[in-house]
Amino acid sequence: MEKREELYRGKAKTVYTTDDAERLILQFRNDTSAFDGEKIDQLERKGMVNNKFNHFIMQKLEQAGVPTQVDALLSDTESLVKKLEMIPVECVVRNVAAGSLVRRLGVEEGIELNPPTFEFFLKNDKLHDPMINESHIVTFGWATEAHIAEMKRLTFKVNEVLKALFADAGMLLVDYKLEFGLAGEQLVLGDEFTPDGCRLWDAETKTKLDKDRFRQGLGGVVEAYEEVAKRIGVEL
Ligand code: ADP
Ligand code: UDP
Repeated sequence: MEKREELYRGKAKTVYTTDDAERLILQFRNDTSAFDGEKIDQLERKGMVNNKFNHFIMQKLEQAGVPTQVDALLSDTESLVKKLEMIPVECVVRNVAAGSLVRRLGVEEGIELNPPTFEFFLKNDKLHDPMINESHIVTFGWATEAHIAEMKRLTFKVNEVLKALFADAGMLLVDYKLEFGLAGEQLVLGDEFTPDGCRLWDAETKTKLDKDRFRQGLGGVVEAYEEVAKRIGVEL
């Protein structure tokens, strides 16, 4: 597999083309950002931890019947993935109240959400990723009704698989964000699933083991990611 030119440099990953028109390389960098890129830092080892974490989770999801971008782990910080035409919306499922839900609705952090909630956000940093609904997505042509239904179905399917995976390792999957794309006609899970894009708490102590440690300046960010990785059996 030959790495060709840089296609896109995001806040945490760089995307490269390859000699295969249907494959891309995702390079996970140590860059960490929060609040739409206002808070930025470099955290040693984070690129490596997230790359291996993401590959492990995507493999688990693929085995459970969720179509994902996963192809191969290429190096400590690089993965080969299926090239997708990304849908510019973020799908968020919440099992426990935290983050923007608490700020928006004034509910108490930590209450159980039963049934879990589902929200769409527009991927647009300049507009601070506003919350949108299905009507907006259809009207503005970001996705079809059929793709919306499939994104919701798959996002909840991911919840079933990962809630259990983390619970078995003594953690609570509080919430998470997924991004999907199209490979031809097929809707496929893309981007990443790492502690950068979800909330994970220790089930007993409720200690935060995710990017909230960075957002809230709690320290020990990568150490927490490594702890999660170790508990679920990711080889680093
Ligand atoms: P951001 O764009 O939010 O700053 P990243 O730094 O994570 O995020 O950049 C990665 C970019 O690559 C994102 O825009 C994401 O939508 C895109 N991407 C992720 N997976 C794929 C894929 N399989 N095919 C094409 N693009 C992808
Ligand atoms: N999230 C993300 N990228 C975003 C926005 C949210 O990965 O651009 C994740 C976030 O880490 C959390 C979940 O989606 O796990 C819900 O985030 P929320 O709406 O509470 O926003 P936040 O307060 O985290 O900005």
